[in-house]
Amino acid sequence: MTRRATCCCGQCAIDVDGEPEINGVCHCRNCKQRTGSAFGWSTYFADSQIMSRTGDVAVYTIGGANPQHRWFCRNCGSTLFWKAARLHGRTGVAGGCFADNSLGPPSVTVSNDGRCAWVGLPGDWRKSL
Ligand SMILES: [Zn+2]
Ligand SMILES: [Zn+2]
Repeated sequence: MTRRATCCCGQCAIDVDGEPEINGVCHCRNCKQRTGSAFGWSTYFADSQIMSRTGDVAVYTIGGANPQHRWFCRNCGSTLFWKAARLHGRTGVAGGCFADNSLGPPSVTVSNDGRCAWVGLPGDWRKSL
């Protein structure tokens, strides 16, 4: 199965083949700021599962303990996909950008120390990668 994730304006897209190797939510500060939400919904696919990338993206690079390159739409600003040093060989794709809701539910929750107290999650999700 091939799925397409798109930015808000629809100009940028990434097509992936098969199921994500990781499908999880992250409560770290960085994911909150990236999404403007209570947590980030992040999926990771092996680089070989990336079928195509289209649209006019720009890249934002962050350093620190887990350096990342994040690609976002130049027109609407949505972060669509990224590469993180800790997850070498994989491409992260913003879960919410699969806006047709074809993805299965997450199975892992990470950076749980940063979870907003009002966020409740299913009890059977793993607590670390
Ligand atoms: Zn866009
Ligand atoms: Zn995070």
